[in-house]
Amino acid sequence: MESLSNYQELWDNAKVILQEKLAPNVYNELFKETYVYKIAGTSIIVIVPSTYIETKINKIYLNVIQEALEPIVFNDYKFVFKTKEKYDTEVAVNRNVNTRLKSNNNLDPSYTFENFVKGDSNIVAFRSAMKVAETPGVMNPLYIFGNVGLGKTHLLQAIGNYVTEIYPDYKVLYVPCINFVKDYQYASQTKNMEAFIDKYYCDLDLLLVDDIQQIEIGEKTQFEFFNLFNELYLNHKQIVIASDKPANKLKIMDRLSSRFSQGLIVDINVPDLNQRMSILKQKMEERNIQNDKISNESLEFIAQNFKDNIRMLDGALTRVLNYYDVMGGLGTIDLSFTMEALDKLLQSQAKSKTNDIDNVIDIIADFYQITRSELISSSRNQKYVVPRQICMYLLKNKYDLTYSKIGKILGNRDHSTVMSGATKIERDLCTNQELKSAVDTILAKLSKVDN
Ligand code: ADP
Ligand code: MG
Repeated sequence: MESLSNYQELWDNAKVILQEKLAPNVYNELFKETYVYKIAGTSIIVIVPSTYIETKINKIYLNVIQEALEPIVFNDYKFVFKTKEKYDTEVAVNRNVNTRLKSNNNLDPSYTFENFVKGDSNIVAFRSAMKVAETPGVMNPLYIFGNVGLGKTHLLQAIGNYVTEIYPDYKVLYVPCINFVKDYQYASQTKNMEAFIDKYYCDLDLLLVDDIQQIEIGEKTQFEFFNLFNELYLNHKQIVIASDKPANKLKIMDRLSSRFSQGLIVDINVPDLNQRMSILKQKMEERNIQNDKISNESLEFIAQNFKDNIRMLDGALTRVLNYYDVMGGLGTIDLSFTMEALDKLLQSQAKSKTNDIDNVIDIIADFYQITRSELISSSRNQKYVVPRQICMYLLKNKYDLTYSKIGKILGNRDHSTVMSGATKIERDLCTNQELKSAVDTILAKLSKVDN
């Protein structure tokens, strides 16, 4: 029983039975002109000529009909009588409701797998995301981590968009973790969990949680998320999580972080120069800008100066293009024009980097109750040496400065002294709890200043 004509045949047989059962004037008035229009689930939609007839059938004859037709109607199929206008309107309304529900999934269609530029820094994350989108629920959860501006949100959104496209019935929800936190807090404060349950617990097939590190702030929320996670996980529903750090570095309850670690874990790194060039070219293409509008040296200059955040890289390109428009938009954008356009931005970047470095020194000195000049001094007193080495370690690992640059900042020490200092801390961190907790505290203070 597949095509509509089969159902029409069934209805024709039914009409013969009805014609035998009913008085001729009744049959002619109500059923003669009816026909099968659509199949909706197990409802066979039979179109009747007017609302008057529709009402009459449904109010008076429905039982008679179902009874008479029992022998020929199988399974759960039933005939539903409507005028064509009414049926069409109802379908349109339902479709609206559905699109409204769907548009509530927080997906932004501009993030796709196609416009995600792949390279060494992100290919594993990309492939895993693709795999999860193709077969949701199999690799659970997918945990993506990496620094800000490297494409985590882009990948989460791309998974959501892809799944909605190939599994149109799937219920998908993208949610920044902070919204989950707020929703939960609101629900518990107002003691009304209904909307919360509706949003998170009703038949989600795919949950995309962004910036999970924001759950660090509350234990009750973590517990609630733990429940939600288990519910989805046990029902083989896909969970994808993005984070700025690996799961075991999150300051959350162990049972939650161990859940996060039980599936597929991938990281995204800083793209290399080639990849940054491809990204710039891709962004030009998205804006419909011809390749020859801007010189290759200009693109290289941008790619070389904006290394560790793709949003900033894209922002720099936008700035150059805007500056070009403002200046009249004539000729090719060359290197000197590009440098001029980015001058202020680069200056303020350099300045904020200097501020960051100053902060590191201040915070460490403060933590160990010594002065800046003691930290930088040539004294070999352990009281100063350890803080100084922590400083070396952080400037290397968090701010990615070269050893010789760090040496210059820390009282003109040479490259090898800095290297051995930073390496020593790195090694000791694995075994020395006291040192580890000191560095964690310093990092926490730093991140407060960063924000
Ligand atoms: P994150 O969530 O990791 O902070 P986003 O996903 O918001 O980073 O990415 C920042 C910006 O850079 C977005 O506009 C995004 O589209 C873009 N972007 C990031 N990675 C890529 C990539 N591989 N290809 C193209 N655009 C990217
Ligand atoms: Mg993000």
